[in-house]
Amino acid sequence: MSDIKPYWQNYIDGAWVDGGSGRISVTNPATGGQIAEHALADAADVDRAVMAARRVHLSGVLTDMRPVERGRLVQAMGKYLLDHIDEIAPVLTLEQGKPLWEARMEVQGAARYFEYYGNQAETVEGRSIPLGSGYFDFTTYEPFGVSAQIIPWNYPVEMTARSLSAALATGNTVVIKSPEMTPLTNAWFAHAAEAVGLPTGAVNILCGYGHEAGAALSSHPQVNQIVFTGSVPTGIAIATAAARNVVPCVLELGGKSAAIVHDDADLAAFENDVRWGIWFNAGQVCSAMSRVIVHESVHDELVERLTTVANGLSVGAGIERPEFGANMGAMVSHGQRDRAVGMVNDAISAGALAAAGGHAPNDPGAFLAPTVLSGVTPDMTIAQEEVFGPVLSVLKFRDDHEALEIANGTPYGLVGGVFTRDIDRATRAARDVRAGQVFVNEWYAGGVETPFGGYGKSGYGREKGREALWNYVQTKNVAIKLRA
Ligand code: NAD
Repeated sequence: MSDIKPYWQNYIDGAWVDGGSGRISVTNPATGGQIAEHALADAADVDRAVMAARRVHLSGVLTDMRPVERGRLVQAMGKYLLDHIDEIAPVLTLEQGKPLWEARMEVQGAARYFEYYGNQAETVEGRSIPLGSGYFDFTTYEPFGVSAQIIPWNYPVEMTARSLSAALATGNTVVIKSPEMTPLTNAWFAHAAEAVGLPTGAVNILCGYGHEAGAALSSHPQVNQIVFTGSVPTGIAIATAAARNVVPCVLELGGKSAAIVHDDADLAAFENDVRWGIWFNAGQVCSAMSRVIVHESVHDELVERLTTVANGLSVGAGIERPEFGANMGAMVSHGQRDRAVGMVNDAISAGALAAAGGHAPNDPGAFLAPTVLSGVTPDMTIAQEEVFGPVLSVLKFRDDHEALEIANGTPYGLVGGVFTRDIDRATRAARDVRAGQVFVNEWYAGGVETPFGGYGKSGYGREKGREALWNYVQTKNVAIKLRA
């Protein structure tokens, strides 16, 4: 991919500009080599972006528009992404590491958000509240104004699309802080905004360090609402900044999500769930199936099956993996890979067994072999903390009560799954698993239409589905006294 342009700028108030903090090197994790440089924003850049977004918001150009028209603009942005998928996907693979077919899926997934929220734009309706014959009362939903969106590196295209589409559909303007490691593909959102004719300044995209541009954005006094997707410590910093300005924020944080596999589960079908659940995007998915809690009577058979799936995945450069298949790319960086290897080594020292993988292949890229750890117990760090890599921990249970206790025994609560043919058992588990989303007999069942978000330290607020619309609007009640 020698035709990638060597330097990418920020997009502020309709102009492509350098960053006040210089440049950052963007590397290809499959090789460790630099692929481009990106401008790095400082606090002054953030301020110009926020003020541009505020100006557009106050002009009323988006809020005054009939929602169906705004919805059409949002949908057209999704269409723009699909029209440019052949450009976007390879850049995404090179900056993030995922196989090219996964990158294409991510762009398609991003487009789907624009389709869905474009459709929803004209469904945000108020209600009329009876107050007796002397009054007429109604509610309306108004956008907050400037939505600040801070994006993680694992799905830079899809995560931006998720928040941007809903924010625009409801009439907000947006400032996006793209991730330092994977900032390049966010440029296409700026191109899309221009191509569909959004007003200049409605969408601003800048890359910068979290502690600099990210902190400046989340604490900016003219930001009216914040959406953050990332780690727990950063989420706490952002919620604190939001509280100081008394603005709402949505936190989509990490997870340590568990699949409970009962003795009557279809173990052959479960192989597919685990393949997607922990090795898709090399496990760098907040809702990854990072724990399997399996009934002791089928434990050994399941570990054998999981090991076969893990060993059957070919691991290598994503750009050489254009077709859907049994393969996995690099992790996002050597730092993330080394952190995951460290956690695996610590788990083995604590008594876990690497049934598959557990090591970095002898390759300059940031690869980690698909890993299955058996003999994990609930008290081990690996069973409690997010690895954010292709590492599956297998734990055993004896009865349903114990399975739920283990599943609920972490500070997180993003998603959970139960695999059984018994409808009563499945329904009880669905009720008792403390998580924002429960999958029964298919990991990742659901879609853009279904609300997503965490219990506990996995965050608060919901993205996806109609629930997400309410993150971006505030309720106004109008009570009219009627003359007799
Ligand atoms: P991170 O928290 O380090 O960074 C996320 C973003 O926050 C980046 O853009 C970063 O620059 C910015 N940031 C860092 N410090 C900041 C600060 N002080 N103020 C403002 N912004 C700051 O997380 P990461 O390592 O990029 O992403 C991985 C984490 O994200 C994992 O924990 C994962 O579970 C989580 N995640 C959650 C979801 C979800 O939907 N729940 C989706 C993807 C990733």
